Amino acid sequence: MRVLNTRLWLKTEFADRPDLLPTGMAVADKVLARLNTAWNQSKTTAPAQSDRYRELLLVADAEIGEMTARAGDIPCRLGCNYCCKDERIVLTEKEAVLAVRHVEEQLDSEQKTEVVTSILAATPTSDQASVPCAFLIDERCSIYASRPVVCRSYFSAPKMVEMAVREVTRAAKFSKLYEINSLMQRIYADADKPAHWVAGRMSDESDLADPE
Ligand code: SF4
Repeated sequence: MRVLNTRLWLKTEFADRPDLLPTGMAVADKVLARLNTAWNQSKTTAPAQSDRYRELLLVADAEIGEMTARAGDIPCRLGCNYCCKDERIVLTEKEAVLAVRHVEEQLDSEQKTEVVTSILAATPTSDQASVPCAFLIDERCSIYASRPVVCRSYFSAPKMVEMAVREVTRAAKFSKLYEINSLMQRIYADADKPAHWVAGRMSDESDLADPE
């Protein structure tokens, strides 16, 4: 899946409503400016790439929060799993680092065992069949604070924030998308691999063998 330019994406989205396009473009420019500023500032505040990305996601969350509040849209909240079962969930390499760090560093051993068991038993998520994301445990996201940007932006306008995040971080490591259950399965199939990901890097090329 290729990363689109946010403005081009908006033009497609608003193809049937050209009257709304100027407003959409103005909002997109504001979001891109804020994300670019945060991304550039994070070079000094969070030198590690995955920490920079985590900071960027907080800014994206704030933008999405503003949009959903204004539009009366459905806000994403812990415990809501509306999108976790019937969508193809994708994430980037750096988002995978944050997810693995969350499992390895923030879950207790019981929770971790449950999540790893779920990952190893999972089949790829799909928008064609109802397949839950492996991180959905007891109807809740087990890595909520570290979930990928796609999980923060399912509803209408917030989707544009996701596009903007991908545009701002367009370097290859941030833009290639992987199906979540398959990638996590490759990482957790070998007990040595998660530690490499916690350190911020894949363990070998086979981890990322089938980029989408
Ligand atoms: S990572 Fe969490 S929020 Fe995203 S699809 Fe999986 S369970 Fe749902």
